[in-house]
Amino acid sequence: MKAFELYDATTVEDAVAMLDQYGSRAKVVGGGSDLVTGVMKDWVQGPGMPYPEVLIDITTIPELHGISSVADGAMKIGAATTLTDVVESEELRNGWPILPEAVDSVASVMIRNFATIGGNIAQRPRCWFLRGENFPCYKKGGDFCFAVTGDNKFHAIIDGELCYIVHSSDSATALLALNGSATIANPSGQREVAFDDFFVGPREDVLRENVLQPNELLVDVQVPALGPNTKTAWIKIKDRQVYDFAVASVAVVANIENGVWQDGRIVLGGVAPTPWRATVVEEALVGKNVQDAVKDATALIRNEARPLSNNAYKVPLVIAITEQAILSTVA
Ligand SMILES: Cc1cc2nc3c(=O)[nH]c(=O)nc-3n(C[C@H](O)[C@H](O)[C@H](O)COP(=O)(O)OP(=O)(O)OC[C@H]3O[C@@H](n4cnc5c(N)ncnc54)[C@H](O)[C@@H]3O)c2cc1C
Ligand code: SF4
Repeated sequence: MKAFELYDATTVEDAVAMLDQYGSRAKVVGGGSDLVTGVMKDWVQGPGMPYPEVLIDITTIPELHGISSVADGAMKIGAATTLTDVVESEELRNGWPILPEAVDSVASVMIRNFATIGGNIAQRPRCWFLRGENFPCYKKGGDFCFAVTGDNKFHAIIDGELCYIVHSSDSATALLALNGSATIANPSGQREVAFDDFFVGPREDVLRENVLQPNELLVDVQVPALGPNTKTAWIKIKDRQVYDFAVASVAVVANIENGVWQDGRIVLGGVAPTPWRATVVEEALVGKNVQDAVKDATALIRNEARPLSNNAYKVPLVIAITEQAILSTVA
């Protein structure tokens, strides 16, 4: 690993000013489990992915830690809050159970003890060509996607174009299903972005995965209160039964009355370059008895899928777990 300068920011303004000063030479670091022990250790770099020379530690900013209730029964989670704190939060377990469930499935206990929720959401993709040497692909500023001709068994089956990464963050899948939002700080102040508008696919910009600019910092995430009839479900399928990323996952937040789907959000992880909202399934369920309609509704995912040479198995897999998750909300 190359040497780097490390600054401990003490306020959000301090961190943003340093990001603005150093530009693309700098990176924010939370727990460092992806950036330092992944991207930098493995020297992942290229014209579109500059190797950072300056790290700005944000875990030293007190206001970025903690979970608290805000207006209208919503909850706010500071970006530097550890994943373990999210898993252990009684308020989240009671009010928004799929978030702690999803976060509990991230990595290992040791990693969750220091990795942050902000870093989990903003982590870089795990594509093995991206992380490997000698693969100057589109995402590093090159002119080829090695997943198209290489081993693509864990790559995207939906919405891939130029680049076929899957979004690796389990918390992001749950936060999108929960209709959450992010607070982002920049030199002009702060802005709120719904997770519906937060993630960026390769069609829009192949060099990044979200709307964060180099001089912007994720400050917190917020989840609105769920209604009294709301049911939730989370399922994650892994290749190995030790800690691992999702081969496919699903988060469901549903408002169901007398077995009939009123409205809800269904989000799939591990299948597309962004957490993918299965609106085709949601729309097919509206006003229907869930048990009667679920098979036909989830089968619509097949029409959206464009699998690569080695990953067609993900299509029936994600249809099956989506059906299972939806049914569990009426069990
Ligand atoms: C063995 C292993 C297994 C893993 N398994 C999983 C898994 O199953 N599921 C999963 O979701 N993830 C997994 N991860 C990925 C990742 O390490 C964790 O998701 C972790 O939560 C990242 O958090 P961090 O604080 O360590 O991030 P860091 O490494 O500090 O940062 C990650 C990225 O986010 C940026 N960043 C961090 N905080 C902010 C902020 N506040 N504002 C703007 N940008 C920010 C950094 O610049 C960097 O680019 C795994 C990692 C390892 C090493
Ligand atoms: S899927 Fe994306 S990150 Fe992986 S090789 Fe292709 S362009 Fe690079």
